[in-house]
Amino acid sequence: MTNAKDHGRQIIVLASGNKGKLHELQDALAPAGLTLRNQSDHGVTEAVEDGATFVENAIKKARNACQQTGYPALADDSGLVVPALGGTPGIHSARYSGEGDSGNNQKLLAAMQGLAGEERSAHFVCVLVLLQSATDPSPLIVEARWHGHIGLAPKGANGFGYDPLFLVTDKDGLTAAELALEQKRAISHRGRAVAMLRAKLGC
Ligand code: IMP
Repeated sequence: MTNAKDHGRQIIVLASGNKGKLHELQDALAPAGLTLRNQSDHGVTEAVEDGATFVENAIKKARNACQQTGYPALADDSGLVVPALGGTPGIHSARYSGEGDSGNNQKLLAAMQGLAGEERSAHFVCVLVLLQSATDPSPLIVEARWHGHIGLAPKGANGFGYDPLFLVTDKDGLTAAELALEQKRAISHRGRAVAMLRAKLGC
């Protein structure tokens, strides 16, 4: 880590404008002795996410935040992968319908009409990239997946994105949007990716 500190705590800029992700990342990382700052508080303009993979886009976002703030930056690039739909929405998860979370869920349900059983299997992917500086040649990268199925209708009010459609394995038909934040953190792609990152950082 570089030595940018706030009352002895390491400062890291979170390279995301997604409120749901920021909430989950802050909840999972704040106890690790890190001071997490939102890139919007530093006036960072969003990176262009034109990579072909989650890893490429996460690196672009982290580098963009480092460049504009001078602090180490952590980026999360994530999304939902549906094998029966050729891996979509994938890296386009956030902008799948162009009409926000509810439009994305409706578009996914329409695309999956007529699919049943294992054809409705899906997984979330979360890639976290930590860059010490814009020229850091060796980013710290972790990736985790969360396997489940896509339901027939949205259910639940917690979480964000595709959570209301994502049926959690071994949770009696509950969707991710019906889990409390701590429950989601314990098993989700993002929760497990953060645990891997903390293990690598030793915090
Ligand atoms: P990104 O900001 O380009 O990485 O896009 C992430 C998108 O993937 C979000 O806007 C959601 O649509 C979806 N996504 C990622 N993680 C989750 C999650 O934990 N729950 C539900 N949707 C998610």
